[in-house]
Amino acid sequence: MPDDSTWQRFEYVNPEMGVKFHLKFYAPNPSTAERVARVVYNRVEELNAIFSDYSPSSELNHLCAKPPGKPVRVSSDLFKIIQRSQQLARWTDGAFDITAGPSVRLWRQSRKHAEMPAVNLLAIATKRVGFWKIQLNPRKRTVTLLAPNMELDLGGIAKGYAVDEAMRILKQNGIRRAFVAASGDMLTSGPPVSSEGWRVEIRAVDEFGNIYPRTIHLKHQALSTSGDTEQFVEINGRRYSHIIDPRTGIGLTNRIAVTVVAPSSTVADSRATAISVLGVKKGMDYANSKNLQVLILNMSNKKHRLLKSPQWKLW
Ligand code: AMP
Ligand code: MG
Repeated sequence: MPDDSTWQRFEYVNPEMGVKFHLKFYAPNPSTAERVARVVYNRVEELNAIFSDYSPSSELNHLCAKPPGKPVRVSSDLFKIIQRSQQLARWTDGAFDITAGPSVRLWRQSRKHAEMPAVNLLAIATKRVGFWKIQLNPRKRTVTLLAPNMELDLGGIAKGYAVDEAMRILKQNGIRRAFVAASGDMLTSGPPVSSEGWRVEIRAVDEFGNIYPRTIHLKHQALSTSGDTEQFVEINGRRYSHIIDPRTGIGLTNRIAVTVVAPSSTVADSRATAISVLGVKKGMDYANSKNLQVLILNMSNKKHRLLKSPQWKLW
C-alpha cells in the first residue's frame, strides 16, 4: 500500500439526492482527486436514478407503476436496498416501512401549506401502507408488489446506501483517508493525516439541560442523525416531523433526535429513522438487542435530556 501520509487533502461538495453531498479525502495529486471525485458522483447519480421517488423515470417508480401481483426483475441495487428495508421493517414491527410513501407524500403537501392533511385522506393513505405487501425472490431477484398503486419511499435509507457506495469507490481507487456525507448521513475511513479522526459536531446536552455542539472524531465509522430537524410543519403549536409513524400515518410529534454510530452508513441511516419512530423506550430496547451505539436527544417538556445506549463509546 502506498504511503498516503504525504498526500494532499481535497474537498468537494455537489448537490445530489436533494442534499449537499460532501467528499473530503487525501489523494496523491489534483488530477487523481478530480478523476476519483467524478467517478464517485457518477455512481451517486446512478443510484439516484434508481432510488428517487421524485423522478417519475426512476427504477423505483417504474416498479410501482407495474400491475400488482406480478414479479418484476430489478437491478441488484434496488433489490438489495428493498431487502435490507424489509428486514428492518420486520425487526421493528413496521416502525420502519418503505411502503409509507402515500403518507409521506401527504405530509409533504402539509408542510408546503402548513395545514393538517384531511382526516379521510390520512385514513386512505394509511390503508395503502404495509411492508407485508412486498414479496421478494432473492434467487430470481424479483420484487412483487401485492397491492395496486403502492408508493415506495426509500428516503430513510437511500442516502446511507449512496454514502456507502461512495466510500467503496474511493477505496477501490486507492483512497484510504476519507469522509463522505449526505446531509445527516456520514461515513469515514482512515483519519486525516496526523489527526485522530474526522471532526464532526453533534448536539449534546450539558448538566443544566442546555444543548451545545460537541466535537467528536470519527474514523472507520458511520454516523447518522434523524428526527428533530428543520423538516417539520407546525400546526396549532404542535410540530409534525417528516418522519411518519406508518401505523398511524401521522408525522412524529415526539421531539427526539436520534444519532446512530455503526460500521456502515446504510445501517446508521435506516436505524436512526427507525428509532425515531420507535421512540425513547422501544428505541433503546431495540438498540440494546442489536448492540447498536445510539444517542437520543430528548426535548420533551422543554427539558433536554441525552440518553446513551450502553454500547455508546464516543465519550
Ligand atoms: P431520515 O432523514 O433518514 O430520517 O429519513 C426521513 C425520510 O424517510 C422521510 O423524508 C421519508 O422519505 C422517509 N420516511 C418517513 N417515515 C418513514 C418510516 N416510518 N419508515 C421509513 N421511511 C420513512
Ligand atoms: Mg435515515
